[in-house]
Amino acid sequence: MISCKEYVEIEKQELQKYVSTNKLENCTLAVIQIGNNQASNSYIKGKKKDCEEIGIKFEHIKLEETIDEIALLVEISQLNTNDNVFGIIVQLPIPEHLDKDIIFNSIATYKDVDGFKKDSRHTSCTARGIIDWLDYNKVDLDGKNVTIIGRSNIVGKPLAKLFLGRNSTVTLCHSHTKNLHNHIINADIVISAIGKLKYISNNELFNKKQILIDVGINRDINNRLCGDFDYERIKNSVEHITPVPNGVGLLTRLALIKNILGVSNE
Ligand code: NAD
Repeated sequence: MISCKEYVEIEKQELQKYVSTNKLENCTLAVIQIGNNQASNSYIKGKKKDCEEIGIKFEHIKLEETIDEIALLVEISQLNTNDNVFGIIVQLPIPEHLDKDIIFNSIATYKDVDGFKKDSRHTSCTARGIIDWLDYNKVDLDGKNVTIIGRSNIVGKPLAKLFLGRNSTVTLCHSHTKNLHNHIINADIVISAIGKLKYISNNELFNKKQILIDVGINRDINNRLCGDFDYERIKNSVEHITPVPNGVGLLTRLALIKNILGVSNE
């Protein structure tokens, strides 16, 4: 299989061409940051870098931690009506005095490029990124047993929906699931999105035909990024396992760019 990193590099070149062919030089992503969360600073930096690489303009709107809801809604409403702004992101986390639902629902459905709103025109970036990468690798999803571990609204649930749309047989596991091992052993594709450092480490659960996709982002005692799977212990027991870093994170970032540009894979 083509790795996430190779795939993203190929796709980025296509997207650069797409921007110039379609004269999309004014297309802008607006990211609203409230406060100065360190993790947010680094995520935003990554988004800025991706946009600039592809040729998309980037507007970083940094607001005070104490901003009131009305002022924030006014800011979003101005972006909603600005035709150059193709995508709006309100970077999480946001301060507790702000109502997350009200804020997110105020973003125009077609500009909600994170795909967080229930009625969003866009698919959640992580879910889309994973399916697009499997498609690129021509993995036939019809009739496959897919086990997804983690049922969050931004990863597990949208992924389950996409796989069902491809006629996969989906098992959606979560913290109350009993005998998780059985669901792993019987799967053709296993996706973990729980956020627990090397939580799945028993290589005897796996076989050479399986594809493992690691969404989890964790830090080990040396502050190195690691996934939910114990990559080193498992990698030789399966057909393919996505690494952390340089795996699903890259797919998610690529899918965001495709959502902003309105690029479909049909
Ligand atoms: P979350 O934190 O909202 O939910 C975690 C889910 O895991 C829950 O559904 C819970 O039931 C399940 N879970 C927890 N412990 C479990 C266990 N022992 N067995 C089975 N299920 C268990 O999830 P999230 O926001 O989807 O994030 C999950 C992880 O993915 C985090 O590490 C996050 O940082 C990462 N993430 C990565 C990307 C990326 O682009 N790589 C994108 C989004 C999230």
